[in-house]
Amino acid sequence: MANENEVSIQREMAKLRGEFHNKLISELREFVAYANLPDQEICRKDTLKKLYDASHRLAGSALTFGYSDSGALLRRLESSLDGILNQGAEIDVIALRKQLNVLAPAVAIPEEIDKDLDAQGSKPEEAKKVQPRAENLLLYVLEDDPTTSNLLKIGLSSFGYYVTTFTSIATLCESAKKDRPDGLIVDIERNNIAEQTLANTTRCLRENGMGSLPILVVSQHDSFAEKLEAARNSVVAFHSKPVDIPALESTLEFVLQPLAKSPYRVLLVDDDVYSMEHHRLMLDKWGIMAHALSDPSKILDLIEEFQPDLMIFDLHMPSCTGVELAEVVRFHTHWIHIPIIFLSSERNEGRQISAMMTSGDDFILKPVVEESFVATIISRAQRARQLAELMTRDSLTGLLKHTEIKERLGHEYARAGRNNSIVSVAMLDIDKFKRVNDSYGHQTGDVVIATLAHLLRRGLRTTDIIGRYGGEEYLVVLPDTDAKNAAIKLNALRKEFEKVKFRHNADEFNCSFSGGICQSDQVNNVDEFVDQADQALYRAKERGRNQIVESDDTD
Ligand code: GH3
Ligand code: MG
Ligand code: MG
Repeated sequence: MANENEVSIQREMAKLRGEFHNKLISELREFVAYANLPDQEICRKDTLKKLYDASHRLAGSALTFGYSDSGALLRRLESSLDGILNQGAEIDVIALRKQLNVLAPAVAIPEEIDKDLDAQGSKPEEAKKVQPRAENLLLYVLEDDPTTSNLLKIGLSSFGYYVTTFTSIATLCESAKKDRPDGLIVDIERNNIAEQTLANTTRCLRENGMGSLPILVVSQHDSFAEKLEAARNSVVAFHSKPVDIPALESTLEFVLQPLAKSPYRVLLVDDDVYSMEHHRLMLDKWGIMAHALSDPSKILDLIEEFQPDLMIFDLHMPSCTGVELAEVVRFHTHWIHIPIIFLSSERNEGRQISAMMTSGDDFILKPVVEESFVATIISRAQRARQLAELMTRDSLTGLLKHTEIKERLGHEYARAGRNNSIVSVAMLDIDKFKRVNDSYGHQTGDVVIATLAHLLRRGLRTTDIIGRYGGEEYLVVLPDTDAKNAAIKLNALRKEFEKVKFRHNADEFNCSFSGGICQSDQVNNVDEFVDQADQALYRAKERGRNQIVESDDTD
């Protein structure tokens, strides 16, 4: 059953097809009008160039919208003009006139354009269930060694996961029917019992409708053979024993988050608005947020604002080519990780290759085949997002690194100035943290650092930006929030954090943090902004720690 959103997309697609039909008729009439021009007019270079550009653009969208006859005729015209303009072929005016005239009946030929709803391709299961999860993630652990099982349960619980352990796949599947987990951690060598092999485990999961569940493997061995077996069974991550809990938690963040995060963002640039809108709707249907841009000169601001995971450029545009546009974008090295895909009806393989060799990452020929087009976009966007995360995020906490959070703070501060809104910044620091390291070791200290990061991520809004500023210092940017409200929110998190029980062997202990907050209208520039928050943090420490101080509270 098509849902409401799909029906509305289908409706928009049908409307777009109708509009394109009218446009095709009027444009083809214009081609025919050129056929009646005198010889010297038709042979002028700018006329030929105009016809070449128009036939190229229109051929692409005619084929996209299913007008295969018109598309083929336009393509032939484009190829002749390409020969004349770019490859030194002689102009045969009579043949050219014929090619233009033949376009007249082309639109009169009824063509198959009304594909039924089912033929539009169905939405993939995965795209449907991409929903942010409000509560903590549930992990199942399949492990018969009680020591590892306990370590995983306690370790991962302290990072905020719900963890349930099992020793047999049968009971695990039974339990999953009632409470479906978000991920599964499997010990690959559970007593070497045949029916517990990885292949049997994944088959059992598939039979119980959990084929898409992300599986992470922990293993006594670290051999190629074991990794190969894991890869053959669609395992997403491999960790050797003894399990390093913070490292495993980082992996979990990495592999489980893509499902929970916001949809992929794709920027489409094409001078042909019909073709662009068609592709935009196609992506929209599969849950990808696509933004269409027809004026390439606006791209730099738009990338900044829209933050695409991937960009798709048309190759032939009148104001600049897709390759030139890609080169302009590539001047900005901090966008280097964003893949650029050229989408064009360019059939010349040499030109396709040269487009990719310069600054693109892939080439897709129009008209696209919906399922493979979308699959290419999703897999590239996913990989790009993972690489971007690795570049900008701290590996222990998954929070933004120092330079990244400072840059984001700068953006938010400038934006608040432009929009006349308020942004607050908070500097947080764990209290007496040296003691934790000294008493329980650096590894336990790491768990504390990562736990506070987790708590901040879970407790703050998705629009708030969190970074690891230093060892056990965090910087939080809260857009559209004044210092008072920021303090209310952070005090609630502070109370939650002081209740968290950390364990080291038989010992249990608690930690706390202090914070300083400043709001943007109390300072003149971004350096002063951070400095004021830092000074307020210093006062919070002086006043006895485990408290939040606002920068205007100087008593
Ligand atoms: P205060 O309440 O005044 O903040 O006291 P403190 O002990 O937390 O003081 P300080 O901020 O000077 O100490 C921070 C310690 O954090 C020092 C450093 O060894 C430790 N640290 C920094 N980065 C890491 C890390 O990545 N992991 C661990 N385990 N410790 C770290
Ligand atoms: Mg400290
Ligand atoms: Mg410190």
